[in-house]
Amino acid sequence: MSRELDENILAATQLDTLAVRAGISRTAEGEHSEPIFMTSSYVFDSAADAAATFAGEQEGNVYSRYTNPTVRTFEQRLAALEGAEQAVATASGMSAILSTCMALLKAGDHVVCSRNVFGTTTNLFGKYLAKFGVEVSFVSLLDMELWRASIKPNTAMLFLETPSNPLCEVADLGLLSNLAKENGCLLVVDNCFCTPALQTPLALGADIVVHSATKYLDGQGRCMGGAVLGSAQYMTELVTFLRTCGPTMSAFNAWVFLKGLETLRLRMDAHSKSALEIANWLEQNPAVEKVFYCGLESHAGYELASSQQKAFGGVLSFQVKGGREQAWRCIDGTRIMSLTANLGDAKTTIVHPATTTHGRLGDEERLAAGISESLIRVAVGLEHVDDLKADLQRGFDAL
Ligand SMILES: *Cc1c(COP(=O)(O)O)cnc(C)c1O
Repeated sequence: MSRELDENILAATQLDTLAVRAGISRTAEGEHSEPIFMTSSYVFDSAADAAATFAGEQEGNVYSRYTNPTVRTFEQRLAALEGAEQAVATASGMSAILSTCMALLKAGDHVVCSRNVFGTTTNLFGKYLAKFGVEVSFVSLLDMELWRASIKPNTAMLFLETPSNPLCEVADLGLLSNLAKENGCLLVVDNCFCTPALQTPLALGADIVVHSATKYLDGQGRCMGGAVLGSAQYMTELVTFLRTCGPTMSAFNAWVFLKGLETLRLRMDAHSKSALEIANWLEQNPAVEKVFYCGLESHAGYELASSQQKAFGGVLSFQVKGGREQAWRCIDGTRIMSLTANLGDAKTTIVHPATTTHGRLGDEERLAAGISESLIRVAVGLEHVDDLKADLQRGFDAL
């Protein structure tokens, strides 16, 4: 790495600068934009050189399941934004969560997991970890007494997302981090909804952050990817798992994500600004029963979100007056928003959680989670907010 690059990075403390500059290491070609290293393996100058690199006696790339310069640039940049000692990139968000569990848990361990996590995460914990002798207790995200009461002598990990999907419930990361420390277990936070532009869980006491890069880190719905971040001690275990088991990120995807990071803060601010405006507008709309967005003063998580996050994010949900029929009519009445369960895209998405993202839950479980038949989730994109309001009004006019 040249002196100029070193100094750029060492002198920078602001997220906006790190998002554009961190992790760059130029090749002898002098390229300005980051190159994509689409290569599975690497060559050596001599047999002795190969032997020393394989033995770990000298630095160097061997094989892209182990290391790849483009992936490494993405890892270093994301680590700088999250304030993490090290980041490890993975093939998807789910492989980030799986790799964390495989690397840091063992048979006989116990995990306490929030009930309000991504549906596939619930399946991973409930179905696959159980198969390998890891026991899981699911708790309500906001019930601190239940978190405390669920901890056992063999509890090794607490796992959660905040704010939650789709009701935007906000967990107190400081309290949960104290609970984890008192009981000698790891606090793992899925920071997909906020991204480091809005929230840095490691600074609030979490041990590990996981990401689905597929969402806001990409920001334009192009690539699958994920990441795990934390201290070098834990990331060494993650690296060993990835090298052995292989759910690594492709160099091309790493390049897309790393360019995505350059505009992350600007995008998150824009998503958050439009979501807040739409949430306020929905609260005044006669067709709407209730709005769930932690940026509204009427929301139970408002104070906590204001202290823990820089802004409130792009995802909100609301109940229309009526039931499933009215919710479906409203969704079908929109013309601009994409009817899809994805989020974190420049394109706004709209979905009916009760029959899609949360469709596998039993009726009772779904109601206990607050997912009513009249609930609609909107992941606000980057279109003009006036057009988005007009589109939702088109939906309400169809009721
Ligand atoms: C999408 C998502 C995941 C899973 O990520 P993939 O990249 O789809 O594997 C995990 N957590 C949250 C909060 C998500 O939204």
